[in-house]
Amino acid sequence: MPHAPVLGDLATPVTVIDADTGVGEIEALIRADPETLGLVAVDDGTTYVLDRPYLESVLAGRLGYGRALMFRRPARSILPEPALVLPAATAWDDAARAVLNRPAGAKSLPVVVSFDDGRLGIAPVGPLVEHLSRRYESLAQDDVLTGLGNRRRLAEVAGDVLARDDRPVALLLIDLDRFKEINDELGHSRGDDLLRRVASVLAEAFPDRVYRLGGDEFVVLLDDLADESDEYLEKLARRLLHDIQGPFTVAGVPITVEASAGVARTTPGRRDLGDLLAGADTAMYAAKRHRTAVEVWRPELAAESTTDLRLLAELRTAIDRGELVLYYQPLVDARTGRVESLEALVRWDHPRHGLLTPAAFLAEAERSEMITAMTDRILADAVRQTARWHRDGWRVPVAVNLPAPVLAQDRIVGVIAGLLAEYDLPAGALKVEITESAVMTRPERSADRLRAIRELGVRIAMDDFGTGYTSLALLTRLPLDELKLDRSFVHRIHDPRERAIVEAVAAMARGLRLTLVAEGVEDQQTADILRDAGFDVLQGYHFGRPAPPVETTRRAA
Ligand code: C2E
Ligand code: CA
Ligand code: CA
Repeated sequence: MPHAPVLGDLATPVTVIDADTGVGEIEALIRADPETLGLVAVDDGTTYVLDRPYLESVLAGRLGYGRALMFRRPARSILPEPALVLPAATAWDDAARAVLNRPAGAKSLPVVVSFDDGRLGIAPVGPLVEHLSRRYESLAQDDVLTGLGNRRRLAEVAGDVLARDDRPVALLLIDLDRFKEINDELGHSRGDDLLRRVASVLAEAFPDRVYRLGGDEFVVLLDDLADESDEYLEKLARRLLHDIQGPFTVAGVPITVEASAGVARTTPGRRDLGDLLAGADTAMYAAKRHRTAVEVWRPELAAESTTDLRLLAELRTAIDRGELVLYYQPLVDARTGRVESLEALVRWDHPRHGLLTPAAFLAEAERSEMITAMTDRILADAVRQTARWHRDGWRVPVAVNLPAPVLAQDRIVGVIAGLLAEYDLPAGALKVEITESAVMTRPERSADRLRAIRELGVRIAMDDFGTGYTSLALLTRLPLDELKLDRSFVHRIHDPRERAIVEAVAAMARGLRLTLVAEGVEDQQTADILRDAGFDVLQGYHFGRPAPPVETTRRAA
């Protein structure tokens, strides 16, 4: 079995000098061995790495001493920061994390490697960091629970398949019925068992074509259709539903799995994953509603699903009547527990239905042009309230969620600048949270707009990180200050595999020098794990639920 890569594999043994060695002698040593990456100096028990680029800059006189003078000085006078020393048996993952954990100035210095026999070597950091980032990319494309590809991998594969040629592609969305009840009744770990069983049946029927989107939703992506008729696709979906029916014995109980499926396929000229998913989703809900188990998308289904039109019409007046209110939830410093900022979260104080959370109206609002008026209102409210807190002496920054359709408009920069001026609030007191999907559609345009917002002095957080499609490459190109890891990761952090992902994300975020935030923290144990993994800021019911401004003020007092 090939062993997992360890630091020793990367290291080359080096000459160890003591701190009295003269710089002239060091020069002779590196001249004698043109291959060497550098030297290691030990002074008073502390180890320093003198890598070749550093030595060359010293010898070129760049430290401000003349060359002759320099040559007579001892190594002690040119020692950099103490080196990171790790045993040769350290796994690459661990070594890479340790490297990224160093202070900014020391990040690129080679690592000193101590071998079992007492010799020392040095290892370059480039391959380590690259390894970690590759591992993250691949971990981040697998669904930890089932081993199937996840939404990210689907996006990547579908991107290729849809761009390749114009053969029809079909997408089947399968959603288990009443899975929540099974979960509640049998417990999460048995619910997980069941998901694994379903996953393996699906994967056997369509190897390498099945993805889990999250929860109890599975996708099959088919690009080699023998027949593209509705009848054929429907038959195929029914056969799959039959296969996953079971019964499976979970904890001694035979369970029959009922599920519904929606099917959508590409049409000439329209080959977009978003369209396929939306179409399959509409069809799947129709299948549940009609109790037909399977539906293939057709335009009539879309018209049916707009039953929330009434709510949407009411929302228009709600904005004008001031029925939208903001609740505020604290984000705390992971080490001190002090409130670091607040997030503004909208609620609709509905005259008949009572207090509605965004789940009841936000998706609909985002699909209509009303989202602009709504966000303007929310921003104005949040800035006004924050300015009030500042005037009262509580200088707390407040974060506002910026939905994708709003970030897509140039006007948003002026709106934010105008509000800051109107309420005389320093820009540093405002944060905006954006999601991966908001920047995915036109990354370059969004990056420009975000840059303009950030130039005002407003901070920018990437929300729900891990659930979307953002590659690390994209992340490095966006002007970000914070990364908020999605709560779905946080809730699974007690699973060691999930923890590995969270730790890899944490290491990368530190490499990019982003403030790392975790949301959905519901207990102290989770808070401890996250703090130890290097999270800077925590948010969740454990520290406080969203509350109206008055209560938020009282809690802060
Ligand atoms: P989000 O931005 O991820 O906001 C955090 C959500 O997690 C909030 O739900 C919050 O109440 C909930 N939460 C906080 N702590 C915990 C916890 O410990 N455990 C669990 N399970 N949940 C926790 P909420 O307020 O229902 O908001 C849902 C989503 O709606 C938000 O997710 C955000 O995407 C959107 N949203 C909320 N307010 C606004 C707004 O003013 N404008 C826009 N555009 N979107 C908003
Ligand atoms: Ca948010
Ligand atoms: Ca979030």
